[in-house]
Amino acid sequence: MSKLKLIVTGGLGFIGSNFIRYRMRTHPEDEIINVDKVTYASNPINKELIDNKNYKFIRGDISDYGRMLSLSEDADIIINFAAESHVDNSIQSSDQFLDSNIFGVHNLLKVARDGDIRFHQISTDEVFGSLPLDSKRKFTDKTKYDPRNPYSATKASADFLVRAFHNTYGVKATISNCSNNYGEFQHPEKLIPKTILSAINNRKIPLYGRGHQIRDWIHVTDHCSAISLITDRGKAGTTYLVGGNEEMENIKVVTTILDRLNKPHDLIEFVQDRPGHDVRYAIRTSKFLKELGWKKKIQFDEGIQSTIEHYQQHKELYEKSGAWMYEWK
Ligand code: NAD
Repeated sequence: MSKLKLIVTGGLGFIGSNFIRYRMRTHPEDEIINVDKVTYASNPINKELIDNKNYKFIRGDISDYGRMLSLSEDADIIINFAAESHVDNSIQSSDQFLDSNIFGVHNLLKVARDGDIRFHQISTDEVFGSLPLDSKRKFTDKTKYDPRNPYSATKASADFLVRAFHNTYGVKATISNCSNNYGEFQHPEKLIPKTILSAINNRKIPLYGRGHQIRDWIHVTDHCSAISLITDRGKAGTTYLVGGNEEMENIKVVTTILDRLNKPHDLIEFVQDRPGHDVRYAIRTSKFLKELGWKKKIQFDEGIQSTIEHYQQHKELYEKSGAWMYEWK
């Protein structure tokens, strides 16, 4: 495989930074330009993301057409991780979600069209809505979109735009919809890091409802290996579903972490459920991805241990996550 020039957007966040590490480890000859706006969610550990002369960080917004077009000159592909990603924030205020997750993606699609560059959109299984708790059904390549909160509605809108630009202008675009990721470098607003950090510090762990919501968990490195394969061999116009095949109730996730840390279950504090909370997500990995040779490698049992160790090791930094923006000044 010849060396590629990748524009990775949102590469200071959780999945994007894991992807850059993964790609530079497996393809050190590639050139990567990471364009990130540096929102509250950008992890300051990623200041020293990778020591490779082929890697460059640029502070920028995906909504800036001229800048994105000139940065993308000679690029082989734009891979878009940039987004507002927290459902609770989208319920508080959805404006920024529309700006980055819809208008930002629209802007990147224009760049991909005008610069004749491949485009890959990182999307989520949340676009499919919610499955009943008591069913065995899974989202598949045939499931219709049914987003139920402002975050997932913006992600679904972006996916439709990607397909429209492929269909209308011939943009060589692909999409991947993945289930819940866990692993290193995630913002502590999310369930798993929040649980680990609260438990380490003997703080109460807020859990929505009775914690019976079900999510399908995948280690972020497995997600990154799927994106990397799509980068190399993805077929324009295809949507790839990526699942971990490890469905678990939220309460099980939290008690597993408490047990690993030898902490009592009474640290859990049940709080009023999130409005419109989706009860169950489960997704079947698409045959298109299996055809590319993708296989999940990390089981939850193993992946959760290294995840816990990461947050233990960097707990001071994660405790300061409310002030991460200042670290980037
Ligand atoms: P994150 O919040 O950790 O990181 C997002 C990054 O994007 C941040 O560094 C932020 O500064 C940057 N960003 C936001 N708006 C930007 C803009 N307008 N211009 C440039 N940069 C901008 O998010 P994440 O969890 O890494 O998610 C990455 C992508 O993966 C998102 O599109 C999300 O919808 C999708 N996804 C996430 C999960 C999950 O479990 N976390 C699962 C499936 C899909």
